[in-house]
Amino acid sequence: MSSTHIPFLDLVGLHSEMEEELVTIFRAALHSAAFIGGKAVQDFENGFAHFCEVGHCVGVGSGTDALRFALMAAGVGPGDSVLTVPNTFIATTEAISQAGAHPEFIDIDERTYNLDPEKLSEFLETKCDPDPLTGRPVSRRTGRTISALVPVHLYGQTADMDRILELAEAWNLIVVEDACQAHGAEYFSRKNKRWQKAGSMGKAAAFSFYPCKNLGACGEAGAVTTSDPDLAHKIRVLRDHGQAEKYYHDIEGYNGRLDAIQAGILRLKLDHLSEWNRQRREKAKMYRESLCSVDGVTLPAEPSWARAVYHLYVVRIQDQHGLQESLKAAGIGTGIHYPIPLHLQKAYSSLGYHEEDFPVTERVAGEILSLPMYPQLTRADQENVVQSVKDYLAAVRRSSSHLVRQGSLV
Ligand SMILES: *Cc1c(COP(=O)(O)O)cnc(C)c1O
Repeated sequence: MSSTHIPFLDLVGLHSEMEEELVTIFRAALHSAAFIGGKAVQDFENGFAHFCEVGHCVGVGSGTDALRFALMAAGVGPGDSVLTVPNTFIATTEAISQAGAHPEFIDIDERTYNLDPEKLSEFLETKCDPDPLTGRPVSRRTGRTISALVPVHLYGQTADMDRILELAEAWNLIVVEDACQAHGAEYFSRKNKRWQKAGSMGKAAAFSFYPCKNLGACGEAGAVTTSDPDLAHKIRVLRDHGQAEKYYHDIEGYNGRLDAIQAGILRLKLDHLSEWNRQRREKAKMYRESLCSVDGVTLPAEPSWARAVYHLYVVRIQDQHGLQESLKAAGIGTGIHYPIPLHLQKAYSSLGYHEEDFPVTERVAGEILSLPMYPQLTRADQENVVQSVKDYLAAVRRSSSHLVRQGSLV
């Protein structure tokens, strides 16, 4: 066994760098006993709204809360269908179901691993009929009216939003971005001729501050961003038991608030986010330059319209488990995001999907491996990862040419 240890993600190193500052936040909360809501939450909300270039940010308990509240406040209701991709974390579809709606899937683009706008267009044109009253698509498969669309900016790269927003407008669909992996990612809109931030393009967007995200709390946290003040207000009511004024409950809501200690920590870390994202992009460049000429591995594609923030650095390879085991033996941590597409999960057997319904998602799921990626990843450790990937591929090539020589592949 190797004595090397390169974790998939190093959250201990990150927090020890800022330990003193973080402790100050906890102490301030103890001294004021302002644990829920209050100034710390407002300060963070203002800071994050500014960072995302939107008018409003509402802090909530998690990314899942953020998605659920955004969908509900935007008008998604019981019995609706909501479109998204099968290639995402289950929280995306859990939130759809928690809003009373049903998820319906569209396959991804093989290059970007995000929602494929052409497949979306084809689905709307050939698998739906427009509702005469609202113009919204009615899915022929389920008979349900589709009210919203959730593009996921997976791995830290935005979906191709121009075309998605154009289709959504034509079909009267609400767009809620799942930006839970994309804090600070940018998209060049050919339509608006400028770079736009993830979280600023849909009706609303959901962010997660789960500790491993590019901006992570020291616990659970999330936020909704939007430019619509009414929507922001509705979400503030939803997160706090349906009350705008204490003990006056206009609706039944949820306990989905952001706590003050997490908000203080997030406000502190927000000042580092752009630099951390820059460092992630630098690591991605190093991986790309070192591995681009190596046969047998497919690297992430970054289209000219995208500035990804590499929440994850995901490569594709024929035998993902072979590479994973080999890296593990070399002391290198990796992950698979995600091994089983949502339409094939037991939890969604009632949706009636089958294997081969989303061939790109299924193929990709069997080939992906996430390599170590975090701002504190050292050059030496990264070189070690690169060398281990190269060694593995060289060993695979040697053993397959050996098999060919023996005639075992004939
Ligand atoms: C992390 C994540 C979520 C959920 O966030 P939580 O804060 O864990 O609830 C939703 N969608 C995606 C794509 C995520 O990566």
